[in-house]
Amino acid sequence: MIDAHVHLGSIPSKGEKWGNFEEYKKIAKKIGVEKYCVVPIGLPNNFTDKTTPDNDSVLREADKNNSVIPVYWFNVFDLPKTLDGRYKAIKLHSDIGEVAINDKRVVDFVKKINLPVFVHTNESKKYSDLGTVSSLANKVDVPVIAVHSGSVTKTFFKLDNYTFPKNVYFETSGIQYAVILKKIYKKFGAERIILGSDYPFGDPRVSLAMIETLDPSEKEYKLMTKENISKILNIK
Ligand SMILES: [Zn+2]
Repeated sequence: MIDAHVHLGSIPSKGEKWGNFEEYKKIAKKIGVEKYCVVPIGLPNNFTDKTTPDNDSVLREADKNNSVIPVYWFNVFDLPKTLDGRYKAIKLHSDIGEVAINDKRVVDFVKKINLPVFVHTNESKKYSDLGTVSSLANKVDVPVIAVHSGSVTKTFFKLDNYTFPKNVYFETSGIQYAVILKKIYKKFGAERIILGSDYPFGDPRVSLAMIETLDPSEKEYKLMTKENISKILNIK
């Protein structure tokens, strides 16, 4: 199995740290997750001063551990000129500066880097709803993965209003209710769904349970937990 969305680092709260990569690796091993797409964790100061979290830490981890698939975290205020060739994908968290997923700066950067792009989505926010995902995907040729698949209940109702080009994929972390994923499965099929945990915010065991609510065939299960993302990232 491959977990398409994992953060390297802990969530700090009142002097305490929640989760850590050592814990993640233990969980992954226990449940049979062989590889994981890793981005650095966005700390509160990154969102207030519009800086990009520490991407280099992910490359250092990837050098030590070949289960790590490095993903570069970008924001439009802090764009690099070039990207290290070890990164397999890029990720936008549009809460930094509240920049819309289909903002021209995002579109231009995605086109320039030409790697699959993960985008944080939240259907209750104008700049990160699934309409903006559809709009970005229509403008670029790379796969666009909607992290959290819109997340909130509203997604369930809004799904019918959107059309998505074939390069849009839906990731399973942070989805509020199983019925949202069930609707995505019914409308778009297992070919468009990707397992992701968003650890330490989520947990791969929760994401797997969500996938099981679909009662998928063995073939569909493999697509969602490994083959779709392997194909997107061109990895074995
Ligand atoms: Zn995340």
